[in-house]
Amino acid sequence: MANTMKAAIAEEFGKPLQLKEVEIPQPQAEQVLVKLAVSGVCHTDVHAADGDWPVKPNIPFIPGHEGVGHVAEVGSHVTHLEKGDHVGIPWLHTACSRCEYCVTGQENFCPTQENTGYSVNGTFAEYVLADANHATKIPQPLESTDAAPILCAGVTTYRGLKETHTKPGDWVVISGIGGLGHLAVQYAKAMGLRVIALSRTPKKLELAQELGADKTINVSETDPGQAVQDQIGGAHGALVTAVSTQAFHQAVSTLQRSGTCSMVGLPPGEFPLSIFEVILKGIDIQGSLVGTRADLREALQFAAEGHVKPAIETQPLEAVNATMERLKKGEVNGRVVLTMS
Ligand code: NAD
Ligand code: ZN
Repeated sequence: MANTMKAAIAEEFGKPLQLKEVEIPQPQAEQVLVKLAVSGVCHTDVHAADGDWPVKPNIPFIPGHEGVGHVAEVGSHVTHLEKGDHVGIPWLHTACSRCEYCVTGQENFCPTQENTGYSVNGTFAEYVLADANHATKIPQPLESTDAAPILCAGVTTYRGLKETHTKPGDWVVISGIGGLGHLAVQYAKAMGLRVIALSRTPKKLELAQELGADKTINVSETDPGQAVQDQIGGAHGALVTAVSTQAFHQAVSTLQRSGTCSMVGLPPGEFPLSIFEVILKGIDIQGSLVGTRADLREALQFAAEGHVKPAIETQPLEAVNATMERLKKGEVNGRVVLTMS
């Protein structure tokens, strides 16, 4: 095995990633080294490389947290994974397993968690280190490219939909039909929900319709709050994936009494919330952060069984900067998955 690898490195916030040859890291006792086949590009990677969130990563670092590949080396204490295993590398690199959140199955809120491609090096590289307790086996017959977007976009929307507390037959609004949103439409349909997709882009609304959305609304032409209230008397739930503060405000206005707005999109900033509306309508505002390992297993299983299939465009690792520029402009339809060799 060579001792260097290709990696895309964030060296300065707001600047293109630098493609370099760097040393292949060695696994610690509880880790595995994974030879990556692919990595999805999430909008979170754009926030990471721009350093636009309140908590910033330490530069230099390798972004990326939707990696899939095969175990290349196993740390001395790892007994449940072996060389050659097909695994995914999610955002949650590790959690303490002792805090109140970890012991109650909410490890996604562990205050001392490490995050792949943010606080530790990520998957825009030929190899990555993973905590063996957080690398996840890819269920058969899922291919690496189809599995990659599930590692973040899939699990985040799957969990985010659960947080709307909707049930089969209910209406859910999905705002933003990007990497997360186009999977959200499919998970929602698989859960028996009726879906209204909101986007500014006709092409994305077409994709939502192909994936099973019952209604679509172009938010640059139509006020979605008014339209959803007029058409169905308000939605039971809303899931906001859009990278726009205005979308959060709009999503709340689509809800019926007692509806829940599950927030997953992470534009830096704030949005106005009418105290009167929240109280009189009994609205729930619910934040949702990626998901637990159990959520991830379930989300992958939905994909393995064919209920959810990411719309994918593959690109070489070298196209990472162009891909992040396209994400900023809202020009990616579905998910771009980078191939490593
Ligand atoms: P993406 O760029 O693929 O998709 C975002 C979509 O929002 C785009 O299609 C864009 O056109 C659309 N959009 C922008 N403004 C809009 C508006 N006003 N109304 C409707 N649509 C609008 O990004 P992504 O990878 O899907 O990520 C989306 C967001 O979710 C990012 O902010 C990311 O950081 C965040 N995220 C959060 C979590 C979490 O745990 N909560 C996990 C993963 C990603
Ligand atoms: Zn992500």
